[in-house]
Amino acid sequence: MIMKELTSGFKNTPCYILSLALLLPMLLPATSHSLQANEMPTAEQVPGGIAILQLSKDRPITHAEFKGKRILIANNNGNRYAVVGIPLNTKPGKHTLQIYLAGGKRDVLGFDVQPKEYATQHLTVKNKRMVNPNAEDMERIIENKKEITKAFAQWTTPELVTMNFKPPVNGRFSSSFGLRRFFNKQARKPHSGMDIAASKGTQVKAPADGTVVTTGNYFFNGNTAFLDHGQGLITLYCHLDSIKVKAGQKIKQGDVLGTVGMTGRVTGPHLHWSVSLNQTMVNPALFLPGNLISPETKETEDLKINSAK
Ligand SMILES: [Zn+2]
Repeated sequence: MIMKELTSGFKNTPCYILSLALLLPMLLPATSHSLQANEMPTAEQVPGGIAILQLSKDRPITHAEFKGKRILIANNNGNRYAVVGIPLNTKPGKHTLQIYLAGGKRDVLGFDVQPKEYATQHLTVKNKRMVNPNAEDMERIIENKKEITKAFAQWTTPELVTMNFKPPVNGRFSSSFGLRRFFNKQARKPHSGMDIAASKGTQVKAPADGTVVTTGNYFFNGNTAFLDHGQGLITLYCHLDSIKVKAGQKIKQGDVLGTVGMTGRVTGPHLHWSVSLNQTMVNPALFLPGNLISPETKETEDLKINSAK
């Protein structure tokens, strides 16, 4: 609970703290990094969200794991935090982070996951094979899945992991993360990313520095690129019309990755953008400035558009 209070306010800070935050740089020496709170994503301890748990500064922690997957550890304001992606299928209640210490010792850190109800979305796809793939398609889907799983399992350790993202496309946030989806009235996996509607050819830009893990053409995702930002933070760009980057290429925030298209399973041109932490898809909105997103209102709008199709 203490952890939640410590961390839940990164982007929902009360006004009086914000005014203090504006004043403090004038009072502190220029070298102070004590106010770089926006380097952290917004904590939301729900299925599909992120837990930001403060770690002891004094203990010799080598790494931490949640459900057997390695966790990103970040420094912020002189403190050390575990930034934990919470899988969408996590049961609300108490969960435990495994902490590994030098010398082979272990420790645990408990945290709560609150329930969250995600809305339902119905979509109509004209190409029926995109809903009920044939045997040949299934072979390709299984191969795609192996490549995608491998890309998300990448672990690199750059000096700094940037977690304050810029939106990858200028467009309308059309379909939010976690929606329980029905394609042509058949239940399918929940929405694993955020959709941003934009016209074909609109530039898709890197939300933060990173390295291209791989690119490919996949059955559902269409033309796709993966960006590795370090410590298991990987972003995915789908349905691209063109891909402008190659595996291994170093990317700066704002560099063009490709253009918006409608390849793969789509109802119209848009970017599908996923963010993965510890091999877990989490809500990309948690990495964007809070004032850019209002998922609830956008979602209603999107449901109307899709039901009209
Ligand atoms: Zn999508």
